Amino acid sequence: MTLATPVAGLVTDVIEFSAVDGPGNRFVVFTQGCNFNCVACHNPYTINPCIDCGLCVDTCPSGALGLDASGHITWDAATCSGSDVCIATCPYDSTPKARAMAVDALLGRIRRAAPFLSGVTVSGGEATQQAGFVRDLFAAVKAELPGLTCFVDSNGAAPVSTWDLLDPVMDAAMIDLKCLDDGIHRRLVQASNAEVLESIRLLAGRGKLHEVRLLLMPGQNDSDDLLARTGAWLASMDPRMRVKVIGFRHHGVRPSAVPLLEPSAEQREHYADVLRRESDFELVVV
Ligand code: SF4
Ligand code: SF4
Repeated sequence: MTLATPVAGLVTDVIEFSAVDGPGNRFVVFTQGCNFNCVACHNPYTINPCIDCGLCVDTCPSGALGLDASGHITWDAATCSGSDVCIATCPYDSTPKARAMAVDALLGRIRRAAPFLSGVTVSGGEATQQAGFVRDLFAAVKAELPGLTCFVDSNGAAPVSTWDLLDPVMDAAMIDLKCLDDGIHRRLVQASNAEVLESIRLLAGRGKLHEVRLLLMPGQNDSDDLLARTGAWLASMDPRMRVKVIGFRHHGVRPSAVPLLEPSAEQREHYADVLRRESDFELVVV
């Protein structure tokens, strides 16, 4: 497939080799910007694009930040020490380090790493918020490096039209399901789960659902009844679905999320047992 003018993406970070973002060894692109505002977000600085307020500039201990003549934030990667003081300073859930990256530039890095890769994953933030960029990146990978798989890691809050756009070049998606109960979902995420459930249904039906991820928080979304209903609903689409049980952890969360409890290893195994009673899932517990 040839695309005349591939678009650039607003990218928070790139990891050239990851073993936790899909099957095998993966090149991961993290996009900036998310349409959810999760209580338990582990990367809250990826939620919003920078608004160039300049508040973080003088806090940088390395002098890596500035404002250009147009009032836009500048970041010098070579000077940056990686302290992340800027991220801690930003009151807008953003980072001054996100930058526009063209498909060609990313493809060059993927090409060099390709002999050691299984595929490419676009994560976030929320990858589907930049669906045109993701589509163009995947199309370029498929055209030049057809041995690599292309995956999206998503919160699932994307319309059918977005999945239709990605479908020709996307091998599969990994979808987070924060809660089957819409009232609890709204409390945890500040948004309905309707589009998430529809995305899971759609992708499972198309054979493009690699895994559903359940982030479980004691006392919030982990009751046996709720988990059993979640398992039954997932099994109705695919009785052997790959389901990843993820115990909430405090790493990276906002101070407001620190009072949330982390599940013990025994609790995480109990979650898996409850799900296992509903179907013959391929269960992964982390
Ligand atoms: S991470 Fe941010 S604050 Fe720290 S050195 Fe880099 S630009 Fe400066
Ligand atoms: S990263 Fe945050 S604090 Fe820094 S300029 Fe952007 S919006 Fe302002």
